[in-house]
Amino acid sequence: MEKLRPEKNTSPYATALADWFRTAARDLPWRRTHDAYRIWLSEIVLQQTRVEQGLPYYEKFIARYPTINRLAAAPDDEVFRLWEGLGYYRRAKNMLGAARIVVEKHKGQFPRSYDELLQLPGIGPYTAAAVASFAFDEPVAVVDGNVARVLARFFGYSGPVNAGSGPKDLRRLAETFLDRRNPGLHNQAVMELGALVCTPRNPRCDACPLKSGCRARAEGRTGELPVKKAARPVRNRRMDYLLSIRNGRISVEKRTDNDIWQNLYQFPLREGLPAARAKAARRLREAFGLKKPPHFAGDATHLLTHRRLLLRFWLTGELLPGYEYVPFDRVEGLSFPIVLRRFLAGIKNSSNFEFGTKKNFTD
Ligand code: SF4
Repeated sequence: MEKLRPEKNTSPYATALADWFRTAARDLPWRRTHDAYRIWLSEIVLQQTRVEQGLPYYEKFIARYPTINRLAAAPDDEVFRLWEGLGYYRRAKNMLGAARIVVEKHKGQFPRSYDELLQLPGIGPYTAAAVASFAFDEPVAVVDGNVARVLARFFGYSGPVNAGSGPKDLRRLAETFLDRRNPGLHNQAVMELGALVCTPRNPRCDACPLKSGCRARAEGRTGELPVKKAARPVRNRRMDYLLSIRNGRISVEKRTDNDIWQNLYQFPLREGLPAARAKAARRLREAFGLKKPPHFAGDATHLLTHRRLLLRFWLTGELLPGYEYVPFDRVEGLSFPIVLRRFLAGIKNSSNFEFGTKKNFTD
């Protein structure tokens, strides 16, 4: 674990926090390094992702692309395929874009300052502060959801942390609280405290190194803070996929619009069809000019931040003009949204399904 520098700490709680971090923090691979590439990669992988889910992806990416030059030179489709299952694919696209800029403009060396890091795609204030402080010890405070919760409770901040002046106020509090002599270690310690001790429900105040100064604890308000403005309501989005399977080949297309799953593959799609299956089958038949209605093959629900995707899958043996047909064994190498990949795996493993036969489509 990282050593504290000998200078006096700027925050009265810095020593207690650092001591707690040294003994209680999880041993994670990106904490054992000052390599900006590895730290940045871990931050991109972990955005909106739990550590347990992100860790195997981090290890997979580091094994395949041990340097930023290797990542920058990788084909897009290969990277998207490795990313499958992590969601929020824009992160993968921005990650590649940033890697290529670092290689082309900065000779493969990560920019060292917060302001320069902010210029790279996919790097916002949080990630810039994390990389600048963890890798280069720039004294800039990190504010993520965990840090906001710790600080709102510690300082007794009663405004909404995610609306109005909340984010700015929290940033100011974080800068005030920052241990400028050891910013990298301090930032990681506050984040870890939020993840392990100052948890959203039932914080373990007795084990907390900040307990003697914490206003929420003193005032019995740990259950009320932080205050959050309600998130936008989740809306439904219905997507009907038509799989045309002929002679061991399957119809696919690449999503190119500026929308979810950009640059990933999918099957021919229609959106906004009626919820009633019989009506939806009729509409699909019309839309694709089929001789017979397609066969319903299954459905799935997939949750995104503000959307609930209601997916249905349909099968046909008829040719869909204008679509690419890919041999089924090559589909494995294409990058699909995980929910489509799961459906594909399901029908592939189904014992009563035979690709390339008419058996599947008889009435
Ligand atoms: S004392 Fe409790 S509420 Fe305050 S920072 Fe620590 S864990 Fe959070």
